[in-house]
Amino acid sequence: MPKAIDHLAALTGYRDRDLLDVTLAHALTDLLRPRGVAVWKLVGEGEQARWLLRARLEAGQATAVSDPPWVAYEDLPPRDSAPLRCDCLRTQAVLRGETDEGACFTLFPLMAEGEAVGVVEVCSDQPPGAATLRLVSSILRIYRNFHGLLDYSERDMLTGLLNRKTFDEDFLKIIHAPPPAVAAGDERRQALTATRHWLGVVDIDHFKSVNDRFGHLIGDEVLLLVARVLRHTFRYQDRLYRFGGEEFVVLLRCGSEADAAGAFERLRQNLENFAFPQVGRVTASIGFTEVQPGDAPSAAFERADQAVYHTKQHGRNQVCGYDDLVRRGLLRRGPRVGDVELF
Ligand code: GH3
Ligand code: MG
Ligand code: MG
Repeated sequence: MPKAIDHLAALTGYRDRDLLDVTLAHALTDLLRPRGVAVWKLVGEGEQARWLLRARLEAGQATAVSDPPWVAYEDLPPRDSAPLRCDCLRTQAVLRGETDEGACFTLFPLMAEGEAVGVVEVCSDQPPGAATLRLVSSILRIYRNFHGLLDYSERDMLTGLLNRKTFDEDFLKIIHAPPPAVAAGDERRQALTATRHWLGVVDIDHFKSVNDRFGHLIGDEVLLLVARVLRHTFRYQDRLYRFGGEEFVVLLRCGSEADAAGAFERLRQNLENFAFPQVGRVTASIGFTEVQPGDAPSAAFERADQAVYHTKQHGRNQVCGYDDLVRRGLLRRGPRVGDVELF
């Protein structure tokens, strides 16, 4: 039992979801001594959803492996490639199966955000007994509660997107951190580390007039729907933040300026074409910039925001790249001149 308590302390000791899943795999390995443990999450939507490996630990291994944070979605195994995992998610019940080699594997639903978001697979020589099942279920309940607490501190209450405080913490971690351990045989590593990051600022056009004409509650609903359009437009690993008010930030990884511009243009069009109940059409002005080595989060944000400002002065409902504006002589590199906004 003291060992179990040690693991609970470890599980709740990090305010980091990656470490939480890795710690969960270690805790289960240590307590159950299985052949292996894997923590899977289902990402993406509906039939297109795929399995992301959050942590896998085999007997005798010292460190867990996982899919890299920016793994290409198409490379993940499709949802239906693992029917038992799908059953476990759907029924939210503990299920059992057998491997071809006669080992037993037990699937536990991983609950978070009020729903089943993944599956923990434990592979063992013998099926776990009742006491073990109870122990694992308790650990998974603590996992769920802690996940809920993380959400509460990291997410914006209205839209469920990440909040501004999280952006500052994420930025340096995502941009500068060395990549974590990757599943063996991953030849994509080089391509992944070569990819570039882009930061976009999305500011809704004339949002004050939405509030003025329709009231604050309808205004809030528009913000909620804008967040939904953002989620549908970008990939699951792109990071989406609400910066307070009617301003959103997107952190994405892609290969070229043209790709980044294309992604933000898709967002602009999706917003323009979305029929907001009562309000009708809502547009946004979008500015983006490439994240530079050694960038501070505020510096990258400031550049993208300058591009938004340019868009606001040139007709709104457009996407402008800061770096492109500078190249074309339409913006001067460096801090804003004559700007009254201080923060
Ligand atoms: P622009 O096109 O220049 O961006 O004009 P704008 O009206 O969108 O910009 P401005 O910054 O003048 O106004 C932003 C408005 O957003 C003001 C405020 O009432 C509203 N707002 C900020 N936070 C919230 C919120 O949480 N809910 C609602 N309903 N409105 C909000
Ligand atoms: Mg604004
Ligand atoms: Mg605005």
